Amino acid sequence: DGVCKCHACYGGPDCSCQSGPECIIDLDHGDPTMYEAYWLVNDASSTTVIPGWQRMSYFAAAAAAPAAHTSSSSRVEQQEQAVAVWFMEHELDVQIRALHAVVGNAITEGRHIVVGTGSTQLYQAALYALSSPEQSKPTSVISAAPYYSSYPVVTDYLRSALFRWAGDATTFKLQQQSSDPNAAEEEEQQQYIELVTSPNNPDGRIQHAVVNGSGPVIHDLAYYWPHYTPITAPADHDLMLFTLSKCTGHAGTRIGWAIVKDAAVAKKMVKFVELNTIGVSQDSQIRATQILKAVIQGCNNYGHQGNRLQPQEADQDSANSNANAAAADPADQMTISQHIQNQNLFHYGHSIMSYRWNRLRAAVGSSSSSSTFSLLDFSPDQCTFFGKKTTPTPAFAWLQCNKEVDCEAFLKARGIISRSGRHFGVGPEFVRLSMLERSHSFELVVQRLASCSSPA
Ligand code: PMP
Repeated sequence: DGVCKCHACYGGPDCSCQSGPECIIDLDHGDPTMYEAYWLVNDASSTTVIPGWQRMSYFAAAAAAPAAHTSSSSRVEQQEQAVAVWFMEHELDVQIRALHAVVGNAITEGRHIVVGTGSTQLYQAALYALSSPEQSKPTSVISAAPYYSSYPVVTDYLRSALFRWAGDATTFKLQQQSSDPNAAEEEEQQQYIELVTSPNNPDGRIQHAVVNGSGPVIHDLAYYWPHYTPITAPADHDLMLFTLSKCTGHAGTRIGWAIVKDAAVAKKMVKFVELNTIGVSQDSQIRATQILKAVIQGCNNYGHQGNRLQPQEADQDSANSNANAAAADPADQMTISQHIQNQNLFHYGHSIMSYRWNRLRAAVGSSSSSSTFSLLDFSPDQCTFFGKKTTPTPAFAWLQCNKEVDCEAFLKARGIISRSGRHFGVGPEFVRLSMLERSHSFELVVQRLASCSSPA
């Protein structure tokens, strides 16, 4: 409409004037708005149009679901089976498997895929499926601290009799080891479900199960994509969660998926989705399908066309990003827009993330006890997707204040909203900052952190 819609912290006819210190930048949530720039350029390949008469029925998925696995059942029975059991658009299932095959980050052959309203719904479905109603005590849900801050809240908000949040997995393990084995025999053994988020939210580290007992493990692999971490091998765990939100940035579409080995567990998860929301928005599934097709096409273009950006040039590109680390806006850089035009989401994402991590580290300075802040260091590893070594560039910065007790309050006084370490099961000297915000917010934060870090 020709009207400039500026971000709240910007003004002027072309939105180029930055607001002053009163402008608050909210990096509390991991809202992946950074990806808007990519999809703006790749608009044509990712647009979805759904005519008003389509996908109206609760059960429209039946038309697209794989016809029948059993030849003896009637068409009606087959349809009921498909609708009641899977709720999933067949084409979305196909594209999810194709995406994992092209990225090489998860095994899907012979596995069941369950779609959910974001992976948040599937997390709850997994707890429902993995805890037994026969237990006299609720199953303990544990995860190594620092753990994703939503887990405790989402686990306990309905005060389920099936499961309850029990905190840090390492503490749980120590308690188990120190408990009297005879007493444990008499009493019922405490059942548990362990959550492993890898790379971890909030700190970006690669994680493994801590307890190594008989309890089931849910692997939350929301960030196991090449823009955030080297893909070292296809993941092959019993129950893995993925989400469109962190893969393509379409958090508002609310689509997540679980890759599940055991058919009975998958079926129970679908039962949860049926009881909770009677399936998953088919409009969203269709949109997600189109987005994934565009991502896969972008990968194919990159791999198959000689005139496209080649891996060596990609190397050069991250070098350029480093050299240009002082530039104001990565979207202005030729190298970044090349990636957008080359339509490869992962190369684009990785370039932006490398650029941002370089900027952040330069602003924060060296991580010594005398400096204002510390950040974790990450070692490079061979990434099978990029065919070269890459360094992790997590979706969150896990910042430690070295001289302040309450890092969240310290940053708030400087116009930056962060999430305190307390929400992740550790101390208030830590905060989590989203690295996936739009570029103007990111640049303002970097400026402010640099001014806190430099000696007065
Ligand atoms: N798992 C992790 C580790 C996350 O960080 C997030 C989003 N912040 C989710 C799950 C939730 O994803 P979704 O948007 O699919 O519900």
